[in-house]
Amino acid sequence: MRERFMHMPRKRFSVATMLAGLLGVLLSAMTRAEAPSVVLAQDGKAVVTIHVVDPAGRLVKAPDAKARKASPGKPSIDDLQLYLGKISGADFKVEITQAYPGANKPGIYVGTDKDLKLAGIDGSRQQFLLRTAEGQLLIAGADDRGISHGIYALLHELGCRWYFPGELWTVTPPPRKTLEVAGDRIGGPDFYIQRRIWPGHGLRTDTTRRELDQWQRRNCIAQPFDVAIAHSWIGLDPRADFQGHPEWFALVSGQRKASKPCYTNPEVIAKAIGYALAHFEKDPESEMVSVSAPDGLGFCTCDLCRKQARVTELKDIGNEVYFGTNPDGQQVSIASETIFNLANRVARAVAAKYPGKRVGILAYSAYAHPPSFKLEPNVYVEVTAGYRRTPLSEQEQFTQFGQRASALGVYEYFDVEQWAWEQPGKARATQLDKGAGDDPLLSREQLPLAQRGIIRQLRLQWRRILRDHAAAVGWQTGHPPDRGAVLRGCVRPRGRTDQAAVSALGD
Ligand SMILES: [Zn+2]
Repeated sequence: MRERFMHMPRKRFSVATMLAGLLGVLLSAMTRAEAPSVVLAQDGKAVVTIHVVDPAGRLVKAPDAKARKASPGKPSIDDLQLYLGKISGADFKVEITQAYPGANKPGIYVGTDKDLKLAGIDGSRQQFLLRTAEGQLLIAGADDRGISHGIYALLHELGCRWYFPGELWTVTPPPRKTLEVAGDRIGGPDFYIQRRIWPGHGLRTDTTRRELDQWQRRNCIAQPFDVAIAHSWIGLDPRADFQGHPEWFALVSGQRKASKPCYTNPEVIAKAIGYALAHFEKDPESEMVSVSAPDGLGFCTCDLCRKQARVTELKDIGNEVYFGTNPDGQQVSIASETIFNLANRVARAVAAKYPGKRVGILAYSAYAHPPSFKLEPNVYVEVTAGYRRTPLSEQEQFTQFGQRASALGVYEYFDVEQWAWEQPGKARATQLDKGAGDDPLLSREQLPLAQRGIIRQLRLQWRRILRDHAAAVGWQTGHPPDRGAVLRGCVRPRGRTDQAAVSALGD
């Protein structure tokens, strides 16, 4: 792949180093043959001013927490000024202007594509455009978030890195007195519904919160859309309701149990619809309601559910997870057939009353297997990378869910205690085989494995791995990395029963 945006002179950083960068790898392209280079600083002096084209005065306001979700403007612009200054030793001025003055006025211009009189980027996907023209560097975003991503894409390519929260992990490239850039390209995240990481950055104090916020913004981690998927009883109360209505609950091995709702019982479906509508009535700002199942196993196999799944013979593939073959010859999971049917029923009611709102559901555990039918357009499915109780490979699972759902996400795990038992190198976060790009810091192998895992996640959350599978995608990562992923000097058995795992650690 050829480089699309680069700083000059070319010799200081190899092309390979630049291409290794996250943004260089990912970005779909719009390349002009010869983008003119622009000198930003010479002999330690700024040659141009940073002009923020901000007719509404929106970008330059210091945002509060709520506004930050919509507009990370000012802190990003402050960083542009700060890091261009650190790299070149120059003092860059920032000026606010109401309008873009046209092609013949030199400067760095930051604003939306509309304000910079540009076109071609997609606002729904947080895209940005970096372009050099005669004497000008344009940093345009389709929206405010796109502007921020454009700023950090530029700084990333100039060599800035923010590996982890806090100053210690900030890397500023070696200073150079002349700073010159050239290029023309469009970029944006592939996972644009949300990109979310829980890196476990200490206790929640004002300082850690601020550092985390800053680190996420600088790495273009964002949640423009509130993905809210949680284990839910969809309006049932397992304690209060079980006595009077055992038929609302799962039939497991011939007995009703309050392990799960029966997802086919018409009264349960009606309750779930009422629950979802009440959710949006109570919280009009909310963008999603979850119908994901309560955690654990024990899904229903009652006659209603079998009828819904169109299966008569059921086979336990382990842990009471039942599969069968429907009259079309498809292998189906009874849990998937019933819970995704309920998701569709709820989604239709939500779409009728609250257009634009979504129903969220995991593809997890006994319902990891794709349903045999299409999902409503307002159903968002998040496929978990673990607890995949399906005979399909990950690739097959994603492909099939992509054929059923119009919005798809990934839920990845740093680690789960029972998977790795804190053995060095066993946690998912430490497995680098999926590739994080070849960031120079990773190749030096100086980092604890879990930290490398976090960097990997930063890269993966921008990657185009689901491009062919869904119209809309998101990604989040769970579990703090200190649970088992960091190299430790001692073993904490914590009641484990897997003696083989303990002895495998040896000394
Ligand atoms: Zn049932």
